[in-house]
This record gives sequence, structure tokens and C-alpha cells, in this order.
Amino acid sequence: MTDATEKPAGRDFIRQIIHDDLQSGKHKSIRTRFPPEPNGYLHIGHAKAICLDFGVAEEFGGLCNLRFDDTNPAKEDPEYVAAIKDDVQWLGFDWAELRHSSDYFEVFYRAALKLIEQGDAYVCDLTAEQVREYRGTLTEPGRNSPFRERSVEENRDLFQRMRAGEFADGARTLRAKIDMASGNINLRDPALYRIKKVAHQNTGDAWPIYPMYDYAHSLSDAIEGITHSLCTLEFEDHRPLYDWCVDRVDLAGNPELLQSLLDAGLPNQAAKPRQIEFSRLNLNYTVMSKRRLVALVHEKLVNGWDDPRMPTLQGLRRRGYTPESLRLLVQRVGISKQNSLIDFSVLEGCVRDDLDARAERRMAVVNPIKLTLTNLPEDHEETIRFPNHPKNADAGERNVPFSREVWIERDDFEEVPPKGFRRLIPGGEVRLRGIGIVRCDEVVKDGDAVIELRGSLDPATRPGQPDADRKIKGTIHWVSAKHGVAAEVRQYDRLFSVPDPSDDSDGSDFRDHINPDSIQRVDAYVEPSAADVDAETRLQFERLGYFVADRRDHGARRPVFNRIVTLRDTWAKLSGKS
Ligand code: ATP
Ligand code: MG
Repeated sequence: MTDATEKPAGRDFIRQIIHDDLQSGKHKSIRTRFPPEPNGYLHIGHAKAICLDFGVAEEFGGLCNLRFDDTNPAKEDPEYVAAIKDDVQWLGFDWAELRHSSDYFEVFYRAALKLIEQGDAYVCDLTAEQVREYRGTLTEPGRNSPFRERSVEENRDLFQRMRAGEFADGARTLRAKIDMASGNINLRDPALYRIKKVAHQNTGDAWPIYPMYDYAHSLSDAIEGITHSLCTLEFEDHRPLYDWCVDRVDLAGNPELLQSLLDAGLPNQAAKPRQIEFSRLNLNYTVMSKRRLVALVHEKLVNGWDDPRMPTLQGLRRRGYTPESLRLLVQRVGISKQNSLIDFSVLEGCVRDDLDARAERRMAVVNPIKLTLTNLPEDHEETIRFPNHPKNADAGERNVPFSREVWIERDDFEEVPPKGFRRLIPGGEVRLRGIGIVRCDEVVKDGDAVIELRGSLDPATRPGQPDADRKIKGTIHWVSAKHGVAAEVRQYDRLFSVPDPSDDSDGSDFRDHINPDSIQRVDAYVEPSAADVDAETRLQFERLGYFVADRRDHGARRPVFNRIVTLRDTWAKLSGKS
């Protein structure tokens, strides 16, 4: 097996920073984390973050944690947790430690009390709407909350009572006391805690208050000793708040907080993390926002989260994409701070390049018409040896049965051939792959419909015979009708027919752009050795494309194959590109 993951040509800016930090001795070893919120399925964008977080840890001899950022109990679900773990492992990574932000709720709470003691946080009674009014705008400074100057004693008492569940949802918040006039709105006394009496999947009813994202995220990184906290560009404006939380709480310099870690059964790994942002992966011809993905599934516009047309990792896996192809995509796209839109063909090219090297070849006919070779005896039957891979002898050979009647593709015959047509025509010749040259002698019709072809095989053109090398324009594939196994082939294509389905500036909705031809189910015939493969086996059906035995539905008695991708980019032609 060849690994399609090539070594990167140069070091991206994040790897450069890590390299320098190790060289200078700033860090002896590095730690990263992948911090998904378990409120949905991972998509191909997340693969970029996973490959970066786990990848750099691997490359620099460090460790990467998987941390579920589960601070938003109402939206989270164990179903997502299981799928996310599965996806990370499928991509080929393993976490040093599996953590949850909720593991740290007690530490967060005590850190908040510390902020209160320091005069860095206060309990605010403004309603959500008032908070918005007081916040100001991009061009106008905010105003101080009337509760900003509460005494430490009052703040401590109120916060402890928030924690005890004395107040209603939304009645109060704990806010950081930073600067209501800051040019960065994130620093205008952001909320650190809110009251929310919702059961949590890990902590049950223990907590009526939950920490806000920026507070929980920065402190979780500090608790786990994350050295490089990699995230996407939209968090750039949050970095000052991230640093503020880390510095003011100063976990590593605080014996009491460190003790609370040990009390929670956690090791003391505290360190000061550094947040570094990189650009998101954006792909055309698909949607990646959670809202739209949820709509596709709930409105049954697709068949679930693992529908082979979905950009979710579960969908891509079921479609037949390999983990190597996704890692290759991330590598080809690279890491930078420049936002860019990647053409879907780049993703398709990655899976083609990966599978070309390692998928075994088989023959399948997806739109069959029968060709009877009348000059062979009725009971003619033989076995032909075929190489499993044209460029890799180690892949071995297989037996392919051949008989008097074969299925060929309907498209490989034209009664009235267009100019340049090189395959079978009435009275014309074509090579049957591995067999020899056949001539079409007779076209059997029912009305206008061609229902069968009758022809003859030229024995002198069979392999090893004198005319075996006779030149002929076309070669077509075939499946013995007597031996071929009926299979369901699902010919998938891109889910959307426009590059930017989310663009609603013309009044359209992304649902309007679903490609009506994104799935086509056909009854096909495959050679016997394609039928009894294990689920998730990927094959090239010669001349048709790459296919995978469906993860859920495939069985030897009822083979089901998904088309991963065609052999060539058929969309480039449509959009006028070369
Ligand atoms: P979305 O905004 O699409 O709903 P999310 O950012 O809410 O996704 P999280 O669970 O918070 O999903 O993401 C976990 C990690 O994956 C974060 O570090 C986030 O920055 C990263 N990530 C999410 N989408 C992308 C993307 N398109 N490209 C690269 N990284 C991404
Ligand atoms: Mg997010």
C-alpha cells in the first residue's frame, strides 16, 4: 500500500512557529488539541483542523488531546460524541487524552471566584437586551453597567448564589471587568458565566450556571498545558480576551487553583497557551454550515448524515473517500491566513490520485446490453487471467470467466455513430478487453429499441495468436452474462449544481440548487471477484470510475457499490475549463 500523503514542500507559518519555539527552548515539547463542540457531525472543514492539530503534534513529537467543548448543554448529544471520535480515528489519528470542558467546571468556578476577589469580574443584572444596548457599536464606545462597581463581597455572594441555583435563567451574568470603551467589542466586559438550568450530558443537574466559550476555551487550554492553540481566523478578535483570561486567572502561578485540579482527579499540566489562527477550508459545490447541513438531513433532502453526497466525514467515508485522500487535500490546500475557496475538483483529484495507485481493477457494466458471440459453442466457457493493477504487479492477478454471451455497455454501441466514434457499430469491430477483436454482425431490435447484438470473435486476434496485435481503434470492457453478478450501482455526483449554493443574493435558496442528477441508481453486472469483496473495499471499475462497496448495504449476495468519482473531471468540461 502506498501512502498518498506526500511530505510538505515547505514549512507553513504555524509549523515554523512551533519549530522556532522548540529550537529556542521556549517549549521542550508541544501539546495541541482538537476542540469540537459535540453539537453536530464533523465535516470536511474540520478535517483541516484535525490534520493540523494532530499532524503537528505527530511531526514534532508532541501530543494532541481530543477535547469536547461541551459548555452548551442544550445543543449537545452523545450521538455526536461517538461520531466525532470515530471520525478522528478514521482519519488516522489518536488522541493523547480525551477530555471535556465539563471536566473542568469546578476549576472554572474557582477561577471565577479568584477573578472576583481580584476585582476582575462582577455580577451584572442587566437583561440580555440591555447588555446589547450598553455594549455600543463598532464606531461608538459602550457604557459601563450600573452593576460594575459592586463590592467584591456582594459579587462573591451573588455569584455563589447563582451557582446555588437561586436565580432564574438569564437573570444575572458574571462579566469580566475589562474596558467598555475598547475598540475590540469582545473586551467590553464580556460575559463569563450565564444561568441556564439545563441538564448536562456529563454533569447532569450539578450546575445551574455554565461558562461562556472564550472563558472555558482559554482556561481549558491552560489546564491541559496546550502550548499552541490552533483555531480558525474568526477567533482572531477573541485572542485578546483569550490572553486576558489566561493571564488574570494565572493558573500555573496559583497553588489553590492547581489544588482544585488535583481535587478533580486531573494532573497538573498547567501552562500558558498561545492561540494562533489559520484560515478555514472552504469548498465550492457544497455547504458546510451546520444550519444548512441540519436542514438537508431533517428535511430529508438527503438520506441522513452519512448520505454519500454529504460533506460530513461520515458521508465522505461512505462515499468511498479514503482518509489518505482527505489528508492529501489538507496538504495540497496548505495552511495560511489567507481565506480561499477551494475548487471541488481539487478534492476529487486527491481521491483519484490516491486510488489510482492502490485500487484494484475490476470490470462492471452499468448500462448493459447483451452481445452474443455466435461463432463460439453454446457451452463455451473459459477463464482469463487479468492483472489486478496495471502498474503494480504485486497486486497479483485474478480469474475472470468468459463465455459466449457477454454484457457490454449500451453506450459502447451506436447504430448511427457520431463522428469520431471508435467503439462498436453495425458491421464494425472493437477489441473486447483481454479477449480479442469482435465484429458486430447483427442488431436485434424490438421496434426502435436495440435489444441485443450478435457478433463474432476473430480467433486469430486472441492473445498469443498471430493477429493478437492487430491495430483497432477501440477497446471495451465486458462481463460474462453467465457469470456476472447483478449489483446495484449508485452513481453519485456533486450534491449541488452551482459553485456557491449558499449565495442567496438572487433570492434563491440553497435547496433550489440541489443537483437532480446527484444520485442515479442502476442495475449493473459485475464480474464475480468484484461481488464478494468486503464492505468498504474500493475498486476501479475499468473505464467507469472508482467505486466502493457500500458500508451499510453491500453484501456478497446483493452487492451495492457507490461511485466515488469518475475517472476524469467531467465538470471541467461543463464549466468550460480545460
Ligand atoms: P461551524 O462553524 O461550521 O458550525 P464550528 O466551528 O462550530 O463549525 P467546532 O466544533 O467549534 O465547529 O469546530 C472545532 C474546530 O474545527 C475548531 O477549532 C474550528 O475552528 C475548526 N473548524 C471548523 N470549521 C472549519 C473549517 N471549515 N476549516 C478549518 N477548520 C474548521
Ligand atoms: Mg465553533
